[in-house]
Amino acid sequence: MPAPLANIHGQMMPLEDVKVSVLDRSFLFGDAVYEVMRVFGGKPWLEQEHFDRLRGSLAAIRIEGVDLDRLRRRMHETIAAGKFGECTVYMHVSRGAAPRKHAFLKQSLTPLELLWVQEYDDGPTALARQHGSSVITYPDLRWHRCDIKSTNLLANVLANEAAAEADCSEALLYLPDGTMSEASHSSFFTIVGGVLHTTPLKANILPGITRNFVIRLAQKADIPLREQAIAKEDLFRADEIILTGTTSEVLPVVRVDGQKVGSGEPGPVARRLQEMHDQAVREFLSRH
Ligand code: PLP
Repeated sequence: MPAPLANIHGQMMPLEDVKVSVLDRSFLFGDAVYEVMRVFGGKPWLEQEHFDRLRGSLAAIRIEGVDLDRLRRRMHETIAAGKFGECTVYMHVSRGAAPRKHAFLKQSLTPLELLWVQEYDDGPTALARQHGSSVITYPDLRWHRCDIKSTNLLANVLANEAAAEADCSEALLYLPDGTMSEASHSSFFTIVGGVLHTTPLKANILPGITRNFVIRLAQKADIPLREQAIAKEDLFRADEIILTGTTSEVLPVVRVDGQKVGSGEPGPVARRLQEMHDQAVREFLSRH
């Protein structure tokens, strides 16, 4: 397996050789944004969408002066240099390093531009996609700007750890008003009577690239979609539940908090969306 290959400010090196200052604000404050991209056969999937979201995250926290076209070229050069095929790209842009002080405008900062590429073994997730996975519910303890893909992931980490300790793959997060937001590192949909339901984007969730892609697939397949609040109790009445995410793709959920979802097997809507997703990737690869 090739070792992960990093690119920091245009310099390629093994990931383990990268050195970042302890005064980098991502280390001290989580003052950074990131993206994770899936690469199929050396080709980044939904690349434009990821760069658009990164641009939005940077603008939202006022990190300026990052040339995203240059970052994109570096990404392609790093994938090619490592001869990567099935891999993921992690991209991380922080506000930079400076003496520790909360306010940033009066400091002269150069953003940290780091990415790395690493081989991706889809085997375990492919098995979960085939058989379905189990999830727990967990309180959403995050801040009010989860639309920004920031590296402040402590609440997500604690939620996902609780899931792992319960032998589950994910935690579906609920808000104090009893409605659901999203999952610790995925978006999710329920399917009730053939209708796809998902939390609206305004409800403090990440605009998932895969969420959006699955919505487009559903439109193509004439599967009706309702973007409205999902109550926690609704999870236990759903015929199907699916998680979506960059590496999860379309992942059926077969148990929530130990209770079966529908028949306890991946359902027909999940299967249809999985087929359409795989077909779209095949078409993408044949076009590029
Ligand atoms: N929601 C959260 C909180 C996430 O961290 C992620 C992915 O990391 C997602 C949803 C899924 O987003 P995407 O489909 O863009 O990977």
